Formats: sequence, structure tokens, C-alpha cells
Amino acid sequence: MMTDETHVLIQGAHELGITLDETTAQKLIMYLDQLELANKRFNITRISRSDALSLHVLDSLTALCIPFENQPDSILDIGTGGGFPGVPLAALIPTAQVTLLDSTLKKVTFAHNTAEVCGIHNIQAVHERAEVYAKHPSAKGSFDLVVSRAVAECKTLFKWMLPFVKSGGTAIALKGSNVEDELRGTAGILERNSAHITNIHPVTLPNTDIERFLVVLKKTSS
Ligand code: SAM
Repeated sequence: MMTDETHVLIQGAHELGITLDETTAQKLIMYLDQLELANKRFNITRISRSDALSLHVLDSLTALCIPFENQPDSILDIGTGGGFPGVPLAALIPTAQVTLLDSTLKKVTFAHNTAEVCGIHNIQAVHERAEVYAKHPSAKGSFDLVVSRAVAECKTLFKWMLPFVKSGGTAIALKGSNVEDELRGTAGILERNSAHITNIHPVTLPNTDIERFLVVLKKTSS
């Protein structure tokens, strides 16, 4: 039988224009339960279990409000922490290979192992700093989609994200309210990486009055 929480998650996704089936919703709720248990032993997230459905899972899924010409086959989540937005995106796009990157070993290991236990198998974990991993030949310019939430200001974040994006690919920075301020001074970084901003998409998180902005960057096709 569908639990209340499963129903709230499916309904919240629907409000974002995203179709979420019951099995996938249950995997994500199981993931939150595991996160709550792990959080009691070692600090992974400051967001409480009661807020996690909206502030972790639905917030992560807002990245799918952006229409893609082609579904991404490869996704990189920079500074994934407890697995957001990478784990919900992996659950919703099982055909994509999702790389979770974080400079903190315990977090990226938790996210990968726990996703596996919850039946989300299309994930690999990389313990590295973004600026170091970008120099790795197998990583540079090799992702269809690069995402990141709550890691750094746009100026730094774009510098970290864009080297990983394939030509013609997309980066999405999931941002809070002061996005216009953050975007000042990013023109040079965009130009050096042959990228431009295609959209700053506002979205209100379901069940809250919290507004987020998705800053969508496109790398020019060569
Ligand atoms: N993205 C997750 C979220 O929204 O819940 C975690 C956000 S947490 C505030 C920031 C994360 O970025 C931390 O887990 C930290 O270890 C990671 N981080 C910070 N600088 C990094 C870098 N240069 N390379 C990779 N990860 C980094």
C-alpha cells in the first residue's frame, strides 16, 4: 500500500511537472530513512528528516524541470554531500550513469553504498576535489550534464563545472535567492569555457514557499 510520504513525494514531483512512479518514490524514501540513521552516527546533512522530502529530494528533482533535447547518458554531481541532487536524478533517469563527486570520503561513500542498497545501481563515486578531478583525462569534457547544489558561489562553481561538460552539453547550478548578485563577474569564465547562460529558471519547492533558481549553462558545440 502507498504510504502518505510516497503519495506526498509523487504529488510534489507532479507539481514540478515530473512523473514519478511508486517504486522509484519508495527507493528515494528508503534512501532518506538510511540518511537519517547514518546522520545519527556521523554528520552528513543538517536538514531534518521531516524537511528532507522537500528540501533534499524535490529540490534535487527541480533540475528535471529543464527540458533536454536528449536525455543525458552521463551526469556528474559536484560536491554531492549526502547524495543531492545526484541520487534522486539517478533514480529518475536509470539509463544515465551518474558520478557523485565529493572531497569528503565518508559522504561520497555513504551516498554510493546507500543508493546501491536502495536499488539505485547506476551510480559511481569519486572521492576527489573538483579542480583536481577536472584534470583527469577520463573526466574532462565527458559529461552530458553537470549539476551542483550548495557547494560554491557561481564564480567558483562555473570554473569547477564547465571543464567537465561535453561540447553541446549542459550544466545546471541549483541556486538560492541571491543568484543575480552571484552572476556578476562570471562573463570571463563563461567565455573561456565556450559557454553561455541559456536560462535562469525560477521554481517554488512544492509544500513550501521557498524559491530556487536553476542557472542553466550550455557549452557551445565544436
Ligand atoms: N550538494 C549537497 C547538497 O546540496 O545537499 C551537499 C552540499 S554541502 C553544503 C557541500 C559539499 O561540497 C560538501 O560535501 C563538501 O565536501 C563538497 N565540496 C566542497 N568543495 C569541494 C571541491 N572543491 N570538490 C569537491 N567537493 C567539494
